[in-house]
Amino acid sequence: MTLPSSLRAPGFVARPYWWDAAEPPKRDSGLPARAAVAIVGGGYAGLSAALTLRRLGHEVVVLDAERIGWGASSRNGGAVSGGLKLAKTDLARKHGAARADAIMATAAASFPFIEELLAREAIDCDYIRCGRFSPAWTPAHYDGMAARAARLAELTGLPTRMVPRERQREALGSDHYHGGMIADGAGSLHPGKYARGLAEAAERAGATLVDGVRVSGIRQEGSGFRIATNQGEMAADAVLVATNGYTRGPGGGSAGGAMPWLAKRLIPIASYIIATEPLAPGVIDRLFPNRRVIGDSRRVLNYFRASPDGTRVVWGGRASFRDATAEQAASALHRAMTDVFPELRDTRVTHAWTGNVAFTFDFLPHIGVQDGVHYAAGCQGSGVAMASWLGHNAALKLAGAANEQFALDSLHFPTVPTYDGTPWFLPLVGGWYRLRDRIDRMRA
Ligand SMILES: Cc1cc2nc3c(=O)[nH]c(=O)nc-3n(C[C@H](O)[C@H](O)[C@H](O)COP(=O)(O)OP(=O)(O)OC[C@H]3O[C@@H](n4cnc5c(N)ncnc54)[C@H](O)[C@@H]3O)c2cc1C
Repeated sequence: MTLPSSLRAPGFVARPYWWDAAEPPKRDSGLPARAAVAIVGGGYAGLSAALTLRRLGHEVVVLDAERIGWGASSRNGGAVSGGLKLAKTDLARKHGAARADAIMATAAASFPFIEELLAREAIDCDYIRCGRFSPAWTPAHYDGMAARAARLAELTGLPTRMVPRERQREALGSDHYHGGMIADGAGSLHPGKYARGLAEAAERAGATLVDGVRVSGIRQEGSGFRIATNQGEMAADAVLVATNGYTRGPGGGSAGGAMPWLAKRLIPIASYIIATEPLAPGVIDRLFPNRRVIGDSRRVLNYFRASPDGTRVVWGGRASFRDATAEQAASALHRAMTDVFPELRDTRVTHAWTGNVAFTFDFLPHIGVQDGVHYAAGCQGSGVAMASWLGHNAALKLAGAANEQFALDSLHFPTVPTYDGTPWFLPLVGGWYRLRDRIDRMRA
């Protein structure tokens, strides 16, 4: 069902709210004949890698099929945190206790990394270390968070605290949840401005950024590579693929994409967001005390925050597991928002948009090398800090400059038989997760 006209603000647009202030610009650089390092994908991962490689003295060209920063990196919710949503026991069972510890620690390290990157490169993107509130969908979720809170504080070096249901309004202007956890090791930024600022930092450092170049194949030639694109071919000594949720080919499946091997290991999932019209003064302060970013504990989660200027609600979620348009999904997002904030029932929507995240079959991000081609991908929908961190570490690896092995490097990267990069199973799995969320709540 599309958004009813009563909930459409005048001038409603189906495009990212972030693009009002920072639409990814069009660049006019043509495809060069060769590069020392070619990076495919101009999001946070590709740009962060480019910056690191330039700092190490390597010549770098970043290619994007659309515009630099056009993908998830200028469309996301702008919540910044490290960490993985994985139980350490599962990790330890699969990878051993020492590797599990190293994976948790390296995921947490993405948060100080991005804070330092933003400060060092003076990237103006409305960053604040506001912390995160994770409201519990059920009392059992609350107990689970309480059991993990101390470990999270230890990993991030920043405090966590539980907020019981009777004091929930100190953290969120809603009675919809069963209390929750505040984690101070989290922040928020303007994703469009971060994408733009990171691109400018990479360019300042000497990287060449090229848009409108869709890579359709990479093959080894001598000691280097030939890269086939819609604009002709180019040569490179080394290649890093950072195409994440957009890795599958233009016709669906893995054929025709930059790296079919990678497409078969990534599950692209659309995430949807709306922005509301500006609210009356004081409302945002009541709904978002301390302006923390919010991500609830449902399997099919809601994530939401105040806009950086403190006037609107920006509300996101997996509103659909089918190929819904942003406008179609907006209606479900508005409903979810008013379940949590009933006072926003008549608040209209100015923007609705969507973007792709990439999940993996082991729920871990990965960097590594396949057939000589480097890759960095799979942030599980939580990649503002992590994609930047993966790109940096993939660059260190490519340049032979890593002091120690990155814990997410060269892990076994699973796929499933016959999977070609088209997640036909999502409506089934998504529906099942939703049903389990509903059952959990009924039992709560
Ligand atoms: C709606 C939404 C909300 C999100 N909210 C949050 C959040 O609040 N917090 C958080 O931490 N994370 C969030 N994420 C996830 C985060 O945005 C991503 O993990 C991160 O931006 C991934 O960066 P990336 O560089 O790996 O990929 P992207 O930014 O997606 O970049 C990939 C690029 O590759 C290009 N490309 C693809 N194929 C080719 C090809 N063949 N040739 C050339 N170029 C190609 C694409 O055009 C694209 O620009 C969200 C994502 C979405 C979509």
